[in-house]
Formats: sequence, structure tokens, C-alpha cells
Amino acid sequence: MDQSGFDDRTRALDTAHRRATEFLEDLDDRPVWPRAGLEEMLDVFGGPLPADGTDPAQVVDEIATRADPGLVAIPGGRFFGFVIGGTHPAALAADWLVSTWDQNSGSSALAPATVAMERIAGRWMLDLFGLPDSASVGFVTGGQLASFTCLASARQAVLARAGWDVAERGLREAPPLRVVVGADRHSSVDRAARFLGIGRAELIVIDSDDQGRMRPDALEQQLLSGTGPLIVCLQAGEVHTGAFDDFEALIPIARAHDAWVHVDGAFGLWAAASPRLRSLTAGMEHADSWATDAHKTLNVPYDCGMAIVRDPADSIAAFRTGGDYLMYTGLDPWDVTPELSRRARGVPAWAALKSLGRSGVAQLMDRLHANAEAMARGLRSIPGVHVVNDVDYTQVMFRLDDDDATRALGRAILDEGTAAVTGAEWRGRATQRCSMSSWATTDADIDRTVAAIRRLVRDA
Ligand SMILES: *Cc1c(COP(=O)(O)O)cnc(C)c1O
Repeated sequence: MDQSGFDDRTRALDTAHRRATEFLEDLDDRPVWPRAGLEEMLDVFGGPLPADGTDPAQVVDEIATRADPGLVAIPGGRFFGFVIGGTHPAALAADWLVSTWDQNSGSSALAPATVAMERIAGRWMLDLFGLPDSASVGFVTGGQLASFTCLASARQAVLARAGWDVAERGLREAPPLRVVVGADRHSSVDRAARFLGIGRAELIVIDSDDQGRMRPDALEQQLLSGTGPLIVCLQAGEVHTGAFDDFEALIPIARAHDAWVHVDGAFGLWAAASPRLRSLTAGMEHADSWATDAHKTLNVPYDCGMAIVRDPADSIAAFRTGGDYLMYTGLDPWDVTPELSRRARGVPAWAALKSLGRSGVAQLMDRLHANAEAMARGLRSIPGVHVVNDVDYTQVMFRLDDDDATRALGRAILDEGTAAVTGAEWRGRATQRCSMSSWATTDADIDRTVAAIRRLVRDA
């Protein structure tokens, strides 16, 4: 690259820094939900591929300007939709370094610095979660791929116990595999099973209670009536209610039937990092695999999820590649995950954990829970608003008496712009959901949100 190439790069980075800082400083004042939809954004960014190039700094500046109306204020303090975290400062800045360094982090021989940070971040998380420090921690794009990765290891292991090496012989002639799930599992568990050759109709679904927790008596009943390789999928943090399965009751039942136990803890596993919330996860350490996210509760940028497997040999059996040009140096990222080349997504996780420390993670968890309680109190104080779930963790669900009015309220909240909540059906009724997942949410954010909803309910 000649001198002007270096200058272009510096100017492009300076522009990105300036426009990023402006976006962050503006977050508190912009409407949380985007003003422009997909069609408008397709127009804004569309047209034919330009015949000639554009100055890099100008490209960055144009992106920031044109995207603005279509951006969601996710990193701000009043985005409560789905289950979505904000971005912790150290993690954000570290993520910039990840792109700058451009390290291919599938292999420790290729990228020792970033693979080391990822491995340490993984160990720190095992420590926070109270899980065995010998487990493998595969960094993947998110909770969906984390469950896929864990269940691929599970499939390999339970079929191996039945004398079948699925990596060698495939699934077609394999002994039938039973995959047990709760009625209120996250849909990503179904998809993970589907990617692994287990169809929707093959899943064995166990009843759940009013908060979405799998019923131990129903599990016991079901397992008495079958034999063969078995995977039981449990859940830490139901996506609507935030409820945790009763691991102390369920895991011994599954174990008695020689099951592999998987826990989808996309946001719930983090409860274990707080002494005050840890009891929600009691017993989950006896599972065989755990899926979780750093881009939700830990507040690192997308994409960052973790597939944790008790015995790394099970991950390796499912994932280690035989490509002879690849160098083996022990437990490399590509030994325990489906990817080869990939970004150093563990670095922002290391940065967030280093920046927060053990006490900071615990305080973050406690604050998310306190925010949920404050939001529930505020919502209950609005005439006509009902909080639907037990607010034991970070999720608050509410509704009005009438389902159409509840849906209309959800739309009105997004249009009004103070906050974002998202809708769902729960037990046949329309609800709105608030997820407390952002480090950036303050008491003032909760107050502003409750005040806005109070106005909208009154004016409706
Ligand atoms: C978000 C979520 C997932 C999926 O995670 P992604 O990071 O979106 O892939 C799975 N399970 C639960 C309970 C979740 O909340």
C-alpha cells in the first residue's frame, strides 16, 4: 500500500470513531425503535453497483448518515425487547481491535494471542458459573449455535454408548435417538435438533408448569416408557417468564435413564455469577452441556455465544477435522465448534470480564434483577396493567384485560419512542415483554418508561 493508502485508512478509522461516538452520545435522545423500515433502507443503500470507487472515509461517513433512521437504540438504556444485551465499553473497544487485528482465531498456532484470551475468558466463565474447569468452551455466534454444538456432541456421545460412531457411520442406520424437550423450550432447541437430523415430530415434549418449567413428574412418567440413546434438554431462563427448570429434581431423573442432559441457559446461566441469584441455577452443574450467550447478559457486541461441554473428548469426537493441512496443538477452537476460519469473538468477552471483575458481574446481574422488580412495580401501579409472571429474574411480562388492547399498546409504545418492548402470546393471551438485559439501564430509564406507558394506557 502506498502512503495515500495508509492515509485513507487513518481517515476512515477517524471517521468511524467520530460517527460511532456521535451515535452513542445521541442514544438517550433518539426514539428507541427505528423510524425507517426495511423498504426505506433498501432504497437508501440501493441502486446499481457503482462503476467506480469512493473514498473510504466518505463511505464510512455515508453509512453512518444513511443507516441512522433504520438503527435501533439497542445499546441505550431503554431497549427491553426480546432478550438483547447492550454493549459494555471495554467489550466495544476490544471489538474494534478484533477487526483491526484480523486474526483468524480457529487455531492457536495461527492466532496465539486471541485464542489464549478466548481460552482464559472461557475458564473465567466456568468459574463464574460453578461448572467444571476441565469442560470445553467453544465460542460460537450465539445461543442457537451453542445449542447446536452441544447437541452435536451429545448425539455423538449417546450413540457411541450404544456402540454407534455417528461421525464415521452417519445417522441413517443408527439406533433411534430420543430427544426430550420441555413444552416451553426456546425454538432454537428445535432448530438445533433439526440441523442434527431430528425432526420436529420426533421431539418428545414434556409438560411445563404455569411459569414454563418442565414438570419432573411428567419427565419421570415419559422416561419410564422408552429405551435407547437419550438426550434431555432443560432450560435456565425461559424467554418470556425468565423461569428456571428445577435441575435438582430433573437431572437425577434423566441420569437414572442414562441421558445426556443439556441446559439452554442463553441468558439464565449468568444467574450463577451472582451470590443472590445463584440458587435459581441450583443443580445445573450436574448436566453434560450448557449453551449460553455473552452478547446478551454479559453485554458484549454481537456475535458471541458459548457451547460448554463437560468432557472435551465428546466435543472433539463431534468436531475435530481431519484436514491434513491443519495443525493440531491440543484443544483448539476448531476442535470443539463447527467453524474453521472465524473472528476472535472471545476477545470482547475477555475484555468485559476483565473490566467488570467477579464483583462487577455479580453487581450487573443483581442490577438487572432489581431493574426487573422496579419495572414490575411500576407497571403494577398503572391502572388496568397486569404483570403476568413471577419476576424472579430479568423478565417482566404484562398485559391489559383485552388482547387487542394489549397488542395496540405494544405498537403505541414503539411509536411513542421512549422505550421498546416486544409482544408475545403466553398461555393463549397477548402480552408485552420487557427483558432487563442491558448494563446501561438506570432507575431513570425505568421511571421514564413507566411514565410513558402510563400516559399511553390513560390516553387509549
Ligand atoms: C436468545 C435465546 C436463544 C438463542 O440465542 P441466540 O444468541 O439468539 O442465537 C436460545 N435460548 C434462549 C432461552 C434464548 O433466550
